[in-house]
Amino acid sequence: MATRTAQPSLRLLKPFLRPAVWPMVGGFVSGLGYALMSGVGLPAMLKTVMPVFFGREEEASPQVVAAAKALFGEDYAAKLLLVACLGMPAVMLLRGLCALMNRYLLNLAGFRFLDGLRRAVFARLQELPLEFYQRHKAGDLVSRLVTDAQQLKHLVTALSEDLIKQPLLLLAALGFLIYTSITERSALFTLIALLSVPVCVIPIRAATTRLLRRARALAYQSGELAAAVTETVQAPLEIQADNLQSRQQERFDQQLRVLLRLSMKAVKYESIVAPIIEFIATVGFMIGLYFGVKSGIDFATFSALGVALYLSYEPIKALGSIQAKIRSAQGSFERLAAILTAPDTVPDPPRPKPVPAGRQPIRFEQVRFRYPTQALDTPAALSDVDVEIAPGETVALVGPSGAGKTTFALLVPRFYDPTEGRVTYGGIDLRELTKADLRRQIAIVPQNPALFHATIAENIRVSRPDASDADVIEAARRAYIHDFIQSLPAGYDTMVGERGASLSGGQRQRIAVARAFLKNAPVLILDEATSALDSESEAMVQEALKQLVQGRTTIMIAHRFSSLTLANRILVFEQGRITGDGPPETLRRTHATYRRMQELQQLA
Ligand code: ADP
Repeated sequence: MATRTAQPSLRLLKPFLRPAVWPMVGGFVSGLGYALMSGVGLPAMLKTVMPVFFGREEEASPQVVAAAKALFGEDYAAKLLLVACLGMPAVMLLRGLCALMNRYLLNLAGFRFLDGLRRAVFARLQELPLEFYQRHKAGDLVSRLVTDAQQLKHLVTALSEDLIKQPLLLLAALGFLIYTSITERSALFTLIALLSVPVCVIPIRAATTRLLRRARALAYQSGELAAAVTETVQAPLEIQADNLQSRQQERFDQQLRVLLRLSMKAVKYESIVAPIIEFIATVGFMIGLYFGVKSGIDFATFSALGVALYLSYEPIKALGSIQAKIRSAQGSFERLAAILTAPDTVPDPPRPKPVPAGRQPIRFEQVRFRYPTQALDTPAALSDVDVEIAPGETVALVGPSGAGKTTFALLVPRFYDPTEGRVTYGGIDLRELTKADLRRQIAIVPQNPALFHATIAENIRVSRPDASDADVIEAARRAYIHDFIQSLPAGYDTMVGERGASLSGGQRQRIAVARAFLKNAPVLILDEATSALDSESEAMVQEALKQLVQGRTTIMIAHRFSSLTLANRILVFEQGRITGDGPPETLRRTHATYRRMQELQQLA
């Protein structure tokens, strides 16, 4: 390998190739049939049978003539013509069938491979922790799954087409060359001409090394382009409100320009291989011819050798371009492998403990947490956090933005593991539980709940897929969203747009609350919406939350002081530390920051 960067092992692809093996073999066999019928069958027919019809029996194959005479008697020519005229279309039909099978089966192999690969990458994506998603842009990940996987599929199809056929052709041609030059004493000519073959390797290597670099950049750039598109289509409001169209367009154009430049470079390196090989081969051939003629080679031998040489350059050219194709696909392979081999930073334990049933205390023990991407000169997102949240408590997290509230809440469902210290649930370190088990105990109402492209009922049911219709309606009722749903044209069967565009912020939040009611988990994490809801929605959300927190252990990231009425305990966060802990009334008296924040809010 020309580059020394750590390269993911191709073995990663093996499981996806397995279901493609049989179609590949079938494709190879039918390809061989096609090649024999066109490469050998047609010329053989021309040479052995055709002369009979034109009265040149002596040029036809004696075996064919003898067989025809035995079958049809002395007057065989007319009947043989009939057989040939009927037989030829039949051969063509068979040949066409082989060609069809060949294409069909090789594509089947390619698509099976693509299918398995995409499924594995998608599955892996769903397992990967939040941290992974913060490092990668959504559009870029989509582009890997769609475009890069497609690139690899093309390679598999091309490889199964060429990697078997071309070496066979090369071996056959070389065999003929060697045989002839030994028997006909024209070894010198062949030797010189063939010396050009190893010389061809030099430009192939040089071009494909450059190609690999371009391929990496190209795959990266395709991801960037997809990311730019995703960003734009996800934010029509911001873009149109601030008249950012021309700015976005300019950025997109810029990305396209880079992509075009890289694509053309890749095309250049991909196409440069064949002409260079042709040139070197011609030079070698001509030098061979020069010395061949000088040493008295005869014309018949020369033309036979010439054809055989020509036939062996063809596969070399093809193998050179396969090499180029492999390089092109390598960038894509690396990008997919990066997903397949991305480390799970919050892995499940090998021997997980069962989650203790019922309501359990949650303890943070000397927890310190720093985001891997966080700048080193900033304070850790959490330091010296040591608290216990008793079962059934409703704890509100308050503090300035960036103080660590969200981070604290995210450690409970184990979206991250503490850098130091530990978090326990019912006395068990969260790292000893599986994430799935743990998360069954926790309902999360996020700030900006995502809705799926499905009906309202299905959107509520996500938190408990086996819930009955009655349960869904009950949950919606308790979340104060039932009446609204009833007023929709198709009620609970109304489809929700992607990202829930047709529901208001307050309605989306209440759908999330309904999900939490349905899940009926002992622990609740509430991330309050920062943007104020309209007062009616606000009142309903507050009322629903009041009921939701009943009997559960609740951690609430509070952005508005109005919601603190729900809490019986407050944790004040400042720069990643908990600086105040107690009931609201006490803190009002004793905690200066808390009091100041409250006054500011009341003024607003
Ligand atoms: P809050 O919820 O109180 O506003 P956060 O918990 O979101 O605060 O953030 C705490 C600190 O961690 C901040 O300094 C923030 O910049 C940093 N931070 C939050 N999320 C990330 C992240 N994904 N990567 C790097 N730093 C982060």
